Amino acid sequence: MATDEAIGRVLLTAEELDRRVRELGAALSRDYEGKNLLLVGILKGAVFFLSDLVRQLQIPAELDFIAVASYGSATKSSGVVQILKDLDRPIEGRDVVIVEDIVDSGLTARYLLSSLQGRNPRTLEICALLAKSEVRVVDVPIRYVGFEIPNEFVVGYGLDYQQRYRGLPYVAVLAEP
Ligand code: 5GP
Repeated sequence: MATDEAIGRVLLTAEELDRRVRELGAALSRDYEGKNLLLVGILKGAVFFLSDLVRQLQIPAELDFIAVASYGSATKSSGVVQILKDLDRPIEGRDVVIVEDIVDSGLTARYLLSSLQGRNPRTLEICALLAKSEVRVVDVPIRYVGFEIPNEFVVGYGLDYQQRYRGLPYVAVLAEP
C-alpha cells in the first residue's frame, strides 16, 4: 500500500467498509426481492462500491452506468452538472437505485434524481456509500446511506483527488493538498 504525505487520518478501514457494504447488500436484497432491480453506478467514483455491493446481493440485478461532470473547484462542487456518458438502455418501468460514492451538497444527486425521474422508472432511490449531511445544500431523499461522515474531503475506495487515490482500500481524509 502506497504511503503518501497527502493521505491524512483513516476514517473508514477496509473491514468497516466491508461490513457495511454487506449490510447494505442485505437491505437491498430484502427490499427488492421479486422486483426488477437496476443499479445505476455513477462513474467513476462509485465503481468500487458498486462492484462490492452487487456481490452481496442475493437477488438478480442489472447494472448500467452514467458519467457526470460536476463543475467547480477540485474539492467543491458547483451544482452545474453535465451528462458525459448516458445510460445504455431505457429505465421505464424498472426499479432503479442510483449508486453514488458520496453525497456532499446534494446538488449532483438532485440533478440525477430529476433527470432519471423524467424517464419514468417504476421506483427510483439513491444508495450512497458516504454522506456529508452537515453541508447538505439541497434536501434530497437518500434511501440507503453507508456512513455519515464529517465535512472533510476524503479519498480512497473509489474517491479521488485529481484522479489519484481511488485504489486505496480504505477511506482517508486528504491532508492539505
Ligand atoms: P455534491 O454535488 O453532492 O456536492 O457532490 C457530489 C460529488 O462531489 C461526488 O460524487 C464526488 O465526486 C464529489 N465529492 C464531494 N465530496 C467529496 C469528497 O470528500 N471527496 C471526493 N474525492 N469527492 C467528493
